Amino acid sequence: PVERPSFRTVLRELSNSPSTIGPFTILDQSVFHKRYLRKMRDLGEGHFGKVTLCMYDPNNDGTGEHVAVKALKHDGGGNQHECWLKEIDILKSLYHANIVKYKGCCTELGGKVVQLIMEFLPLGSLKEYIIGCKIGVPQCLLFAGQICQGMEYLQSKRYIHRDLAARNVLVENDNLVKIGDFGLTKHIPEEKEYYRVRDDGESPVFWYAVECLRESKFSFSSDVWSFGVTLYEILTRCDPAMNPPKMLGNAHGQMVVTALISLLERRKTLPCPKDCPHEVYMLMKQCWNVEPGQRPSFKSLIESIATIRQ
Ligand code: ADP
Ligand code: MG
Repeated sequence: PVERPSFRTVLRELSNSPSTIGPFTILDQSVFHKRYLRKMRDLGEGHFGKVTLCMYDPNNDGTGEHVAVKALKHDGGGNQHECWLKEIDILKSLYHANIVKYKGCCTELGGKVVQLIMEFLPLGSLKEYIIGCKIGVPQCLLFAGQICQGMEYLQSKRYIHRDLAARNVLVENDNLVKIGDFGLTKHIPEEKEYYRVRDDGESPVFWYAVECLRESKFSFSSDVWSFGVTLYEILTRCDPAMNPPKMLGNAHGQMVVTALISLLERRKTLPCPKDCPHEVYMLMKQCWNVEPGQRPSFKSLIESIATIRQ
């Protein structure tokens, strides 16, 4: 008699697709095989990740699709690997026009190495796109509104992003941006309002709300603060001379956070960018209210931005 495979074997086959079981071929669209991923060029890197443009080309004839592949820069193992798997799981659970789309994973060495496959956004990060470019205020506000839409969706799933900044927003074309990089994102349980995270010295402190610096307390409102800084970056077109660290930080090392807290408590905020309309600067200032409860919600920011755009 023919030996039948065990359920375990069948399950393994299914997860190693494309696989054949009897006459059926099962194709899991989210499984990417390393042998078909052809590297084209580096796209960028941050603290933890490195992103490359690849062509996924199973036919090996150049007809494949472009994908962005993110990998851990140095897999320190342990906790870092777990955080990385969490980042992948979070992106997998998100589906919105203004959030970068998850496509799948490429797994090697029995799961020891996992790469995240995302859609490729041809114009790169908003920071690279906007530097030195001449986009007008209406386009700035279009992007700002889209970021708020993505953030409102993220909050509806009870996530706080914790790293909202121009470097983590991606540009599809002149009329569309999407939020990326969910490396610091945390889920807030239903009954809680904030998440406490210990600082590892690598935090984007110049985008942080005052309570994040003082008490490591992250909430939906602290994302609103970071949105204010992102809006500022957009209106300065990421001019390096106006960069938030440059404008706020005249201290080094340990002193940065202490100096920053004292500055923010004295309501010393980032200055009004050159051609920024007064109403838009007022929105930033509202996002930087020392009292988290006094900051606008993303929903109300969407409305305010739409009104100003009219
Ligand atoms: P990290 O977690 O290391 O900060 P990011 O996810 O922010 O990594 O990616 C680093 C950089 O790579 C981004 O700032 C951007 O320039 C580029 N990048 C990331 N994802 C994409 C993508 N899907 N398409 C195009 N460029 C991307
Ligand atoms: Mg990043």
